[in-house]
Amino acid sequence: MRPWLVIILVSGCFGLTGCFERIVEPVDVFGNVKQGALYSSASKMIDDWYAVEAIDTQTFAINEPKSSQYNTSYLIVGDARAIVFDAGSGERLPGSRSMREVAEQYTDKPITLILSHFHYDHIYDAATFDGITLIDRPEIRTSIKNGVFTIDPWESLDSEWRSLKVAAIIADGNVMDLGGRKLDVLNLPGHTTESMVLFDRARNQVFAGDFIYRHLGGIIAFAPGSDLVAYKASSKRLLQLTNPDTLFFGAHGIPRFGRDWLTLLDSELDKIIRGEAEYRYVTHYLAPVIPWRVYQNGELYIYTTPLVDPPLLWSKWMLLVLGTVSVLACSFLHLIAHWSFATIGKKVGR
Ligand SMILES: [Zn+2]
Repeated sequence: MRPWLVIILVSGCFGLTGCFERIVEPVDVFGNVKQGALYSSASKMIDDWYAVEAIDTQTFAINEPKSSQYNTSYLIVGDARAIVFDAGSGERLPGSRSMREVAEQYTDKPITLILSHFHYDHIYDAATFDGITLIDRPEIRTSIKNGVFTIDPWESLDSEWRSLKVAAIIADGNVMDLGGRKLDVLNLPGHTTESMVLFDRARNQVFAGDFIYRHLGGIIAFAPGSDLVAYKASSKRLLQLTNPDTLFFGAHGIPRFGRDWLTLLDSELDKIIRGEAEYRYVTHYLAPVIPWRVYQNGELYIYTTPLVDPPLLWSKWMLLVLGTVSVLACSFLHLIAHWSFATIGKKVGR
């Protein structure tokens, strides 16, 4: 295909998305907080990049206020060992400390890393930890070779392959004992298949990753592996496990929120699954050149694509097929145009 044709097609796509509404801008995704500002007076800057809130004496929110998606990772400490839940946005300043180094400032217990999921904005410092504890899923087991698990660019939405040493594999529903502190480990697919949520029943705290968060413009169910039917089943499960006093801690936006937000997500997912949701097509600031399908109720936005439901279609193979068909169609149109111009040229020249 000629370069000029590619340029025309690409600019055509960009132009087309310009026709779609852009309902969330980066500046208004954090609720009342501005990028770079602290979400609460309880959170304190500890250097030029990180701010830390001691939720209690053994639980710390490690926030990156200057990151574009206002990320928060968590340090969850027991009497024998500690968990770091997520490994940084990947936007930290050159020379700033890694997530592991920050966590070690608050505990002398051995630290295990758990990733809420494998997206690029949660895994940056993962390789600095001694090992990662993974959820037991068949596709994860097959990606472990000689004790090393590799996250591929399709999973991380990044350009790099990342190899991480595996410390352990834990099954969905199992309990992790940190010594005097227990965490229920849940595999809650929806945002991605491997999404993990940790629940400290005794303290009534849920660490939710990207399964659910407030602000940041909405819940994302348009990533590879997103599945709305699974999302609904997972939200129902989490609702059943928790109670009205449970405190939730998300990975983006203002970290802390109540269970009412989960109740709302659950009921809205229910409408989507029953085919009662009304959609609009809008662009999203994270992927601005594509029109996404959004369902909105008040402050809650759920972004999807028609490919997500049924989830079978939303696979790399389907995208490959769609890509190939599009390229073939464009080449075919180009051939027809070329042939028509040549025929007209001949007639004019006669
Ligand atoms: Zn994510």
